Amino acid sequence: MVADSYDVIIAGGGMVGASLAVALADLPLRVAMVEPIELGSDAQPSFDERTIALNAASQAIFETLGVWPDMAAEAAAMRSIHISDQGRFGVTRMHAEDYGLEALGQVVPTRTVGRALFTRIEASERIDFLCPARVQALSTDNAEQVQVALDDGRQLVARLLVGADGGRSQVRQCLGIDAAIDDYQAKAIVSSVASAKPMEGRAFERFTASGPIALLPGPQHRTVVVWSQPSARADALLALDEEAFLAELNAGFGRRLGALSALGRRQAYPLYRVLAQRIVGPRAVLIGNAANHLHPVAGQGFNLGLRDAATLADMLADAVAAGQDIGSGQRLSAYAQRRQADRQATAGMTHGLIRVFSNHTPVLRTGRNLGLLMTDLLPGLKRRMAVRSTGFAGRPPRLARGLSVRSPEPQRGAPI
Ligand SMILES: Cc1cc2nc3c(=O)[nH]c(=O)nc-3n(C[C@H](O)[C@H](O)[C@H](O)COP(=O)(O)OP(=O)(O)OC[C@H]3O[C@@H](n4cnc5c(N)ncnc54)[C@H](O)[C@@H]3O)c2cc1C
Repeated sequence: MVADSYDVIIAGGGMVGASLAVALADLPLRVAMVEPIELGSDAQPSFDERTIALNAASQAIFETLGVWPDMAAEAAAMRSIHISDQGRFGVTRMHAEDYGLEALGQVVPTRTVGRALFTRIEASERIDFLCPARVQALSTDNAEQVQVALDDGRQLVARLLVGADGGRSQVRQCLGIDAAIDDYQAKAIVSSVASAKPMEGRAFERFTASGPIALLPGPQHRTVVVWSQPSARADALLALDEEAFLAELNAGFGRRLGALSALGRRQAYPLYRVLAQRIVGPRAVLIGNAANHLHPVAGQGFNLGLRDAATLADMLADAVAAGQDIGSGQRLSAYAQRRQADRQATAGMTHGLIRVFSNHTPVLRTGRNLGLLMTDLLPGLKRRMAVRSTGFAGRPPRLARGLSVRSPEPQRGAPI
């Protein structure tokens, strides 16, 4: 069988893979995006019931790509974040205006993100969306190209394969790349509620003895709930009726927003962390959850993956402009190096939060209480945390700076 030939094959048309496809749409590259489950299906794991927090850098990336207007009507702005520890006095707060931003981020349904991205993908003549199909096997024996076998029997070849196929990445396995896996033995229960007091753009992260509760301002004046609990307790909570569940949630969160009521549909996600030990192989690169799958406590997983995609788009645009091979080992190593600090710091911050706040020894509880207080009092420390969580730390990709991927690199520096 003759293989179909592409410049780039993206394995996975989820949040990160589809974002990369849109970021590449203006480059003279033939792209195939392979995805087993179509958008709109109840089984689609990336564009599902969740509503996620996009940070300011992610919003900027979507604005530059021109897809933000299709998301904006269903987005709710997050203007401040309030972090507290149940039963302790220390709190820290971050306000967008302190960092010259209109909002720290936007809370958007993942299905809205999907619709906006796929409108662009379907309009592009350079992108072939191969769905339903799954990447099953690959060969990197030929130094000039990667060969990819799909589960429907089709064979593809490309100069570069991008594994954007999620935390249990088949591409990562086929490349023989090991990953450090931490099972948090916990689940995140995701739902929505109505709060007696209006959210007014405020987000809350409350650490409790059994796990963090995040309440985010959601679309249509709803409040988004992401409640992480040990697996057995999460299952018990999911088995409760609405009234009993709300009683537990109100007890865990406290009265800052008045009574929480009118519970929406509940869904649970097992929580684990995956960190790939390498993110590049011969003519292949891992991005998004395939490279780093994080706990949702800090709402950073997709934001980090989108920076992977935007940085990779920079690298591919530079290679095209220079007339060079887009999948050369040298280019891929440079990409891996450029992503290293952001990956390490974001994954470290997220994992650190879980480790510190799930420890209940009195010394550590007092220490973290003081930590929250100190963070609130020390502007330098808080600023560093804010810059990291808004996604502008280090050298942000061009799209996050409002520049097209085709622009020559003008200057260094972050907007805040
Ligand atoms: C409860 C919860 C709340 C979260 N909240 C936030 C938040 O507020 N902010 C934030 O930034 N992040 C958040 N995240 C993280 C975010 O959801 C992920 O980081 C994001 O979905 C990663 O996207 P991805 O495309 O890399 O992977 P995935 O979403 O896993 O998508 C992978 C895609 O690959 C496809 N696929 C699988 N195998 C193959 C194959 N062999 N071949 C081809 N395709 C394949 C899948 O069908 C899927 O479409 C949250 C996560 C959870 C669980």
